[in-house]
Amino acid sequence: MANIHILPEYLANQIAAGEVVQRPESVVKELVENAVDAGATAISVVVRDAGKQLIHVIDNGGGMSKDDLAMSVVRHATSKIKTEHDLHAIRTLGFRGEALASIAAVADVEIRTKLQPSAEDDGVSSTGWVLASRPGESPDIRPIATSVGTQILVRNLFYNVPARRKFLKSDLTEFRHVSETMQRMALSRTDVRFTFHDGDVLVFDVRPSSLLQRIRDVLGINADRALVPVSMVEDGISVSGYVGLPEIARQSRSGQFLFLNGRPITSRPLAHAILTAYEQLLSTGSHPVFVVNIEIDPNKVDVNVHPQKHEVKFDNERAAYLLIQVAVTKALREADVLPAFLGDLPLASKPLQGLATPAAGGITYVNRLTGEIVHSQTSSSPPPTFPPVRSAHGGAVAAALFTPPPKTEQAPVFQAGSQYILTPTADGVMVIDQHAAHERVIYERVMNKHATPAHAEQALLFSVKITRSPSEIVIVREYLAEFQKLGFRLDILDSTTIEIHSVPTDVQPGNEEQVLGKLIDSLQHGGTIPKERRFDHIATMFAAKQAIRRGDRLGTEEMQTLVENLLKCALPHLTPEGKPTFFLLPFDELSSRLT
Ligand code: ADP
Ligand code: MG
Repeated sequence: MANIHILPEYLANQIAAGEVVQRPESVVKELVENAVDAGATAISVVVRDAGKQLIHVIDNGGGMSKDDLAMSVVRHATSKIKTEHDLHAIRTLGFRGEALASIAAVADVEIRTKLQPSAEDDGVSSTGWVLASRPGESPDIRPIATSVGTQILVRNLFYNVPARRKFLKSDLTEFRHVSETMQRMALSRTDVRFTFHDGDVLVFDVRPSSLLQRIRDVLGINADRALVPVSMVEDGISVSGYVGLPEIARQSRSGQFLFLNGRPITSRPLAHAILTAYEQLLSTGSHPVFVVNIEIDPNKVDVNVHPQKHEVKFDNERAAYLLIQVAVTKALREADVLPAFLGDLPLASKPLQGLATPAAGGITYVNRLTGEIVHSQTSSSPPPTFPPVRSAHGGAVAAALFTPPPKTEQAPVFQAGSQYILTPTADGVMVIDQHAAHERVIYERVMNKHATPAHAEQALLFSVKITRSPSEIVIVREYLAEFQKLGFRLDILDSTTIEIHSVPTDVQPGNEEQVLGKLIDSLQHGGTIPKERRFDHIATMFAAKQAIRRGDRLGTEEMQTLVENLLKCALPHLTPEGKPTFFLLPFDELSSRLT
C-alpha cells in the first residue's frame, strides 16, 4: 500500500501561495506586474482596508481570450516563457505562472477581461469574459460586457487561511507596504499612467512623464535642483536615474529605489555602492533619496532566485558595484555638493542655493506616502478621469481632501455633540472627531519636530522633581533617549526621584508632572516594544494624552485651526493608532436619503 500521493491541486496551490502571497502588497505587486506585462498604458489600483478586504486592479492591456482566462488561474500556466532558453533571458516581469493560481487559493478572485480586437476580426471577439473563483472550487466562466483589458478583484484575502490572516499587521503597516510597491511600480514604468486609491481617497494619479517628473510626483519632491541625474555606461553595464542632494535626505529609506532592467530589486551591495558616494555628506540616521536603474544583458542576470523575484544574481556584481559608485560620485560632484577633499575636483564654484520655495497661490497637495506637502504652481494636470472606479461604494468621495486646495479658512465650522466638528467641503460634509483629529495633529508635530530637535523643548525656569516607584524609574531610564527626543530633559536623581528640566513645547505650564506621569503609566502597559518603534510609541501616547478631549467646548477659531492643521497632516484620515479621524458624508448620499 502506498502512503505517498500527489497533493490535490487546491492544497498544492495553497502551499505555493505561502511563498508568493505574503500580504496584500504581494497581491498588488503580482497583479500590477501582470498588467504591465499585458502592455497596459494605464493601470488603476484600488485597495480597501489596506487590501485585506479588496484589491482591485484595472488595466487597458491586451486582455485574455476565454481559453487563456481559464488557464490563467492554473498553476505553472504562463504565456510568457515557453522553453528553457526563454528562462535565461526574461524580459517580462512575470514568468513563473504562479501568481494567479496562488492568489486564487487564498482569496475570492474575479477576473473580467476582453481581448484587444485585432485588425482582421470584425467584432467576432468583441465579447468579454468573467471568471469567478473561490478557493477549492472550480472556477465559473461566463460572458460579460466589459471594456478591453483586464480587471481583477481580489476579495477577503486569506479568509480561508486564518493563521495567515492573523499574521497580517495593522492596516497602516499593510497600507505602507502596498504604497511602497505602488511607488516602485510607478517609478519603474514612467510610460504608464498609474492611478492609486486607498478606498475612496486618491493617493496618486501620475500620467506618463519624464523620470524626473515621475520621481517628483511619486515621492513628493518639490525642490527644483534637489535631484541630480546619474548616467554612465561601461562594459555592457549602464547606470541611470537620479540621486537626491543631501537637502532632501530622509529619516528612513523610503526614498530609495533600485531597478535592474526596469525590474524593482533589492540589493544590499548595490545600495551600499550608492551610499558610499554620500559618505561625509550625510549625518547618521539620514538616508539619501535615489532612483537608479541598472541595465545589463538579461542573459547575465538571474532573476529566478526567489519566488517574489525581488532578488537577483548577476555574473558581474563587482563591476556593477564600482560603476554605480563612480557614477553617483560623479553626479554629486557635478552638482557641486561633494566637498573639495575628495581629490581632483575644483572647489565648489557656487554655494548651494536655497531650495526653491513654491509660488504663493499654488495648489497644495499632501503626499500621503511621504508626509510631504506638495505645492504645485501650475494646475496643468486636470482631475483624474481614467479609469472610472465603479465600486459599489460610491464615487471618489474623500478625494475632496486631497484634490482641491482646502479652503478651510473661510469654511464655516460647527461643533456638534461636544465632540464632532462639522464643516462643508466641495463634495459633502466632513464630520471630524475633535479628539482623534487633534491626536493626529500633535503626533505629526512631534514627529516633525524630532527632525529638528532644537524647537522641540522648552526649558523650565525652575526644574520640577517628581517621585515615582522604583519600577517606574526603571522604565524612565529605559526610555530616556526617547523622552529626550520628545522634548523631556530628565535627570534620574535616585531610585525614586526624577528631575524635569524641560518639557515638550505643547505641555502647558504646571502640567509637567501630570503629562510625564501619564506617559510613564502608558509605557508600563506597553509590553516590550522594539527599539526602533519606541519613539513612535511614545509620540503616539503623548498625542493621545495631550489631545483635546471629547466633551471639550471649542471656539470657532480653535476648530478652524484644528481642521486646517489636520488637512496639512500626511495621514489626516487616521489617528496614530489607526482609528478614523473623520469621514465625509457625500452630498450624493444626502440627496439619496432625502428623496
Ligand atoms: P505569470 O505572470 O508568471 O505568467 P500569472 O499567474 O501572474 O503568471 O499569470 C498567468 C497568465 O495569465 C499570464 O502569463 C498571462 O498570460 C495571463 N494574465 C494574467 N494577468 C493578465 C492581465 N492583466 N492581462 C492579460 N493577461 C494576463
Ligand atoms: Mg504574473
